[in-house]
Formats: sequence, structure tokens, C-alpha cells
Amino acid sequence: MTAKILPPDLHRDTLALRTSIEPSQYGENSETMYLTSSFIQPDAVTAARRFAQEEEGYMYTRVGNPTVTSMELRLAALEGTEAAIATSSGMAAILLLGMGLLKAGDHVVCSQSVFGSTIRLFSVEFAKFGIRTSFVAQSDVSAWAAAMGPDTKLLFAETPTNPLTDVCDIQALADVAHQAGAKLAVDNCFCSPALQQPVRFGADYIIHSGTKYLDGQGRVVAGAICCSQKDVDDLFLPITRTAGMVLSPFNAWVVLKGMETLAVRMHAQCANALALATWLQHQPQVARVHYPGLASHPQHALAMRQQSGSGGPVLAFEVKSQDPTAARARAFHVIDSTKVCSITTNLGDTKTTICHPASTSHARITEPQRQAAGVVQGLVRVAVGLEHLDDLKTDLLRGLNSLAA
Ligand SMILES: *Cc1c(COP(=O)(O)O)cnc(C)c1O
Repeated sequence: MTAKILPPDLHRDTLALRTSIEPSQYGENSETMYLTSSFIQPDAVTAARRFAQEEEGYMYTRVGNPTVTSMELRLAALEGTEAAIATSSGMAAILLLGMGLLKAGDHVVCSQSVFGSTIRLFSVEFAKFGIRTSFVAQSDVSAWAAAMGPDTKLLFAETPTNPLTDVCDIQALADVAHQAGAKLAVDNCFCSPALQQPVRFGADYIIHSGTKYLDGQGRVVAGAICCSQKDVDDLFLPITRTAGMVLSPFNAWVVLKGMETLAVRMHAQCANALALATWLQHQPQVARVHYPGLASHPQHALAMRQQSGSGGPVLAFEVKSQDPTAARARAFHVIDSTKVCSITTNLGDTKTTICHPASTSHARITEPQRQAAGVVQGLVRVAVGLEHLDDLKTDLLRGLNSLAA
């Protein structure tokens, strides 16, 4: 099915509402959810032509589904790429990226501060198939350059990182990759296209967990790769139709509708996050606040340039502790004292979430990997939602105020 024809040069805010496939013959204003596993073919000849890929048309939802197509078109419009391919989760998108680009003997350079499951996917799962990965310091471009070798095919970055919000220079990493004939993939979960479009800085592949800000209300698990149409057609579609890590039409529909309010949600949540981070800096029980919107953040200037002047919706802070062995218990106390925030590792929700990364999202990696990533035991991550700022402050004060000095 073809994309709806729109006037040229529309703004992204408009594309977020208006990009989709053509409506059905009923002219529905809200996009239809096509909950069907297969599609009736007009006749046997047409079916044969479609299976031979000589003619466009839907056959089976593992191969393609109109609701999923709408979600892909809309996401690509927001990211500024030609195309997108949806996957069953964000991790499935990274799996698909690896399956599409890499083979035995290839080498990957990856930030050591990426999402915990991403580290494991590269260091354990891809390693089984003879793909080597070097992990390097997120914001040290020279370390990325030094790790490059003759077999390096892919650089993988995530910016800002979870949970420390370290920012890397996408343009600089794209240059390192392209000089060596390699590709750069950027996981854009934290900023979403509302704040950051990695393709503008030279990234070749943009990874999404639609589970996060694209859905925006914590309802579904979804993922996608945004890239050229040629890469979708030649590299990724042949894999998804064979290996089946496709997005369900229901989940695609939820993400499709989520994207309509992405920009307004993001801007409101980022404003809340900046105010909360600024306030946390002045709390006596807080040793350090990690937030790209603060002047104290090591890559503040870069973040402002790369992220549309916003620090993003996620912050992390270290609870003060004289004795390092007590740090974990003190962080747990702050988390457990909240009555408004949701204790969950998910983020990207309109409801504020709070978690202890060292024992949750980063628990499956080894202690040296955790140390390298800077995920200390006193660290608490807050993904700021749309609640009233004063209620969030009060919620954090419950635990902070009752900590023994
Ligand atoms: C959540 C997350 C993922 C994985 O996405 P899923 O949809 O949970 O598979 C990947 N990268 C980042 C940065 C994430 O936050």
C-alpha cells in the first residue's frame, strides 16, 4: 500500500500527525488497526506475482502489514530517513542490524556505556557467531578511532546513555566510521527524533526502542531501524520475513498514535527534568547529578548542539555515602520512600519512573563492565514524566530527608 500523498516541505510536527498509508475506502480519520495474520489475494496469478516480489501487496503479516507500514512511514518522516523497518522490540532492532550488516570475522566498536542488553548482545550472543566487539569510552573519539581495525564494519553508539546521560559526538563518530568504510548506528531512544535526528550528523542507522518515548505511555514493546530504502529492501526485509522478529500490528498502532503527541510530551517532560535536575544539585544528600542540561555536565555544550537545546527527559543522581558498602542501601531507601514515582526500569513513560541501575538494568553484566560504565551502587535513575514538579520533589525528599548524614 502506498504512502498518503502530502504537500511538500511540511514541518515535522505536521508529519507526526499526517504521515501514514492511504485510509481505507471508509475514510477513517484515525488510522485503522489491521489485526490480521494474512491477506486475501484477488486471484492465484496475483498471489504468485506478489510471492515472486514482482508486484506490491500484502500477503502475510510476517512479511508486511498496513498498520506496521504506517508506523514505519511516520517514524522515518520524523527521523528524516528514507525508510524504517519495525521490529518486535528495540533489542530485536539491534539483532536485525547485526544480522544484516555483520558476518563471522567482522569487528564492531561499541560504546562501553550502552544499554545493558546491548552490551550482552554484542559481547555474548554475536560473539558465538564469530563477531568481535571492542568496547570503548563513550565520549572519547580518539578511543573509538584507536579501536578501528581492518575488519571493523560497524560503530554502535547510544546518546545520551542510560543511566549516566553521557553524550557522544555523532558527527565525529560518523567521520571515524566513514573514513574506514564502516557504518555508524545510533540508538536514539533517549532523545527520540523530537530532540535529536542522528541522520543529520551522518549516522547511517538509527535504532529505536518504540517501547520508550515513541509509544510514550509504557504500553507496548516495539522497535525499529531507520535507514535508506535500499538497506530496508536489500539488507533487512529479507531477514525479518525469514527470521520473523516483526512488530505486531496492535503494537505498531499504539506507537503510531504515540508519535502524534511525541513532541509535546517530550518538551514538557524535558522541562520537568531540567527543573528537577537543577533542584537535585542543591540537595545535601545528593553527591552528584548527571543531566546533559546542566552546565556541570561534561558534554553540556555538545548536548545542547546535538539535542535541540534540550537535556532530555532522563537524569541520574548519586546518593551521598561515606561508606561505599552502604551506598546501595541508601539508594534503595530513596527509591523505596517514593509514593508517586513508579519503581520500574522502564522509561519513556508519561509517568515518572525510578530505578537502581546497578541491580536492575545493569545487573547481568560483570562488575568490571559495570565499573567501566560508571554505574555505581549509589546511583538512582529518574525518567521524568508529566506529574507536577512539586509532587516529584516532595516524593524524592521523603527518602533524601530521612537518610542519616
Ligand atoms: C529499552 C532500550 C533498548 C531495548 O529496547 P526494548 O524495546 O526493551 O527491547 C535499547 N536501547 C535503549 C537505550 C533502551 O533504553
